[in-house]
Amino acid sequence: MERTFSIIKPDAVQAGHVAGILSEIEKAAFQIVAIRKMSLSKAQAAGFYAVHAQRPFFDSLTTFMSSGPIVAMVLEKPNAIADLRKLMGATNPANAEEGTIRRKFARSIEANAIHGSDGEDSAAFEIGYFFAGYELL
Ligand code: ATP
Ligand code: MG
Repeated sequence: MERTFSIIKPDAVQAGHVAGILSEIEKAAFQIVAIRKMSLSKAQAAGFYAVHAQRPFFDSLTTFMSSGPIVAMVLEKPNAIADLRKLMGATNPANAEEGTIRRKFARSIEANAIHGSDGEDSAAFEIGYFFAGYELL
């Protein structure tokens, strides 16, 4: 078994796509280990995306991620990290394959509906950023 971390981003929550995205995730055989609807401050969003601090889009990204409620979750299945990235589709929805969550639900390269950890180290950091051990049994 492997765990990954995912966020339904503010654009998708605001547009009423939470159930649609969770349905795609469950159809793809992920178990939801933990889930929480919440809002991020700009500083909390900056801490989460700290690896992107030097990118030109960082200020806009952290403003967007703190613009409204998100749904944070820990997902589990064999090969969860790579399988979620595949189910999400390309960062830019214009390049996302048919059948992917971003193709269906994303609006733009920034407002792209969903986040998924990109490797084992980032999954461990991101799960720990949002959830305590007692919530992950
Ligand atoms: P995520 O980390 O959210 O799962 P990703 O791994 O597909 O997405 P990253 O390169 O890690 O893409 O970028 C993080 C996020 O920053 C993107 O999902 C998107 O919301 C935003 N972003 C990435 N590139 C751009 C860009 N060129 N312009 C604006 N926003 C961008
Ligand atoms: Mg990323």
